[in-house]
Amino acid sequence: MIETIGILGGGQLGRMLTLEAKRMGYRVVTLEPLPNSPCGQVADEQIVAAYDDLRAIGELGARSDVVTYEFENIPLESVRALEDGGRLVRPDSEVLRVAQDRILEKAFVREAGCATAPFAPVAGGAPLDDALREVGFPAVVKTARGGYDGKGQWVVRDRDEARGALAAARGAALVVERFVPFDLEVSVICARGADGTIVSFPVTENQHDHGVLATTIVPARVSPALAEQAKAVAATLGAKLGIVGTYCIEFFVAGSKLYVNEIAPRVHNSGHYSLDAMQISQYEAHVRAICDLPLVEPKLWEPAVMVNVLGAGTGDYLEGVATLLRDPDVKLHVYGKRHAALRRKMAHFTVLAPTLDVALAKAEIGRHALSWSQSRSDWGNAARASSTVRRP
Ligand code: AMP
Repeated sequence: MIETIGILGGGQLGRMLTLEAKRMGYRVVTLEPLPNSPCGQVADEQIVAAYDDLRAIGELGARSDVVTYEFENIPLESVRALEDGGRLVRPDSEVLRVAQDRILEKAFVREAGCATAPFAPVAGGAPLDDALREVGFPAVVKTARGGYDGKGQWVVRDRDEARGALAAARGAALVVERFVPFDLEVSVICARGADGTIVSFPVTENQHDHGVLATTIVPARVSPALAEQAKAVAATLGAKLGIVGTYCIEFFVAGSKLYVNEIAPRVHNSGHYSLDAMQISQYEAHVRAICDLPLVEPKLWEPAVMVNVLGAGTGDYLEGVATLLRDPDVKLHVYGKRHAALRRKMAHFTVLAPTLDVALAKAEIGRHALSWSQSRSDWGNAARASSTVRRP
């Protein structure tokens, strides 16, 4: 029987996962290198340790009945050590191995019969020029591992720019990808149980700012046929990979074509809206999947728009919260991070409305109501008091 869930990672995804898990009656232990993390603040226990500290990882395993993760840049060895010690990790280390390496991930997507942008690896000493010749300009040079939120990637239009990217990458393994002139980006969140049941959330439309998700629009403004196709691809990939838990497949849409961009084997920023707009959230679905509870088909109450509230680097206090909250259709979620560094994900709000146009208009009003300042305002952004910090 599962009573305690262990979470590797202490960010906002872990926080919302924890809040849902606790609502459902579970205990949560988190492991993350920084004390008082967004997840640690709401978990029953936080283990403050590096992700490669195998003694601490062992302690997390010993305290948990199932271990999961809220981001994929966890050392594979740590997850394998848990499994070798007989601990249940969901999704398992094989899923993580593929998802944390863009080269393996893209090769896997192709093998599964799904489209990606043309790509070529620049690893193991293969020359960048060869990869660029294969892929063509403009291209996107990406680090094979460790990138997120647009970090570790460079759009290059010619060989000079490509050489600049190579220098900036400082010897990291790279993958070169054709730049896709997409019409829009969409994602599909699914949850898969150990028995193979898969349920999918509505296709969402995602708008980015400097590589960071800014807005999610639900449902995505795509044809029903394309939405069905995206869901089918997402289900195929999750089943072939054997994921147990919530996962997200990101796509580029160009005309009537879909290209898989990324597999995130975890709860995802583009699924935040599900907390307020659906009868089951992506977080609850993850808890159900990893705890062997039944998965049910998610239902959308109303069209929704989720706006990420990003730091501006101009102060740690958010102004305009009272104005934002005058709209009865707005739900605000705050992550308990102290410093609002430039483009750091600090909070989000979701707007529900009878039509997408109304939700979009209200989202823009809400976005413009908010700004950052250096002095305490109508809203306190201080990180909340932490739960017990255990040092292994
Ligand atoms: P990623 O980290 O791969 O999800 O990339 C972050 C963002 O960069 C994506 O959401 C796109 O907006 C953009 N991007 C990444 N790869 C490409 C590509 N091949 N073509 C066009 N835009 C891209």
